[in-house]
Amino acid sequence: MTAAEKALLRSLWLYPADVGSCGGCAPALLELLAPRLDIERLGLAVVDSPRHADALLVTGVCTRQSAPRLQELCRAVPAPRVVLAVGACAVSQGVFAGGYNAPRTVEEVVRAADPEAIVVHVPGCPPRPEAILLGISRAMEALAAARPGPRAGRAAP
Ligand code: SF4
Repeated sequence: MTAAEKALLRSLWLYPADVGSCGGCAPALLELLAPRLDIERLGLAVVDSPRHADALLVTGVCTRQSAPRLQELCRAVPAPRVVLAVGACAVSQGVFAGGYNAPRTVEEVVRAADPEAIVVHVPGCPPRPEAILLGISRAMEALAAARPGPRAGRAAP
């Protein structure tokens, strides 16, 4: 494996999408960018467009109103698509489960847009920043296995 291929394996660009959160997950996300964890030193970055992203990082409960927007965002990410469902609301609708305005989980909404999407769950209310980092590393492993080219999980020579 070349140095460039190794560098690409350690790089993941994230687009954050709040589909209906209380705001409680946001501080955990911000902590990823703060000096203690500083994910940019690991080759991770938050980007301004889903078209530049490797993965969506979704927080909040997916409502009837936000579901079509989430599907648009999902389709804008280049395939193979990775979605991190971060927080109890995104994973299982949390305390909003069974509510009339949140009929589907983030995974169900994403799979309706792309059945092949890789969905990684990060539970917690809010999840700890370290748990989000673990979820990101699992997403990177799944993406490396799914993506052709340098990120495909090839053995080092
Ligand atoms: S998981 Fe908890 S902190 Fe995050 S949006 Fe839901 S209720 Fe708020």
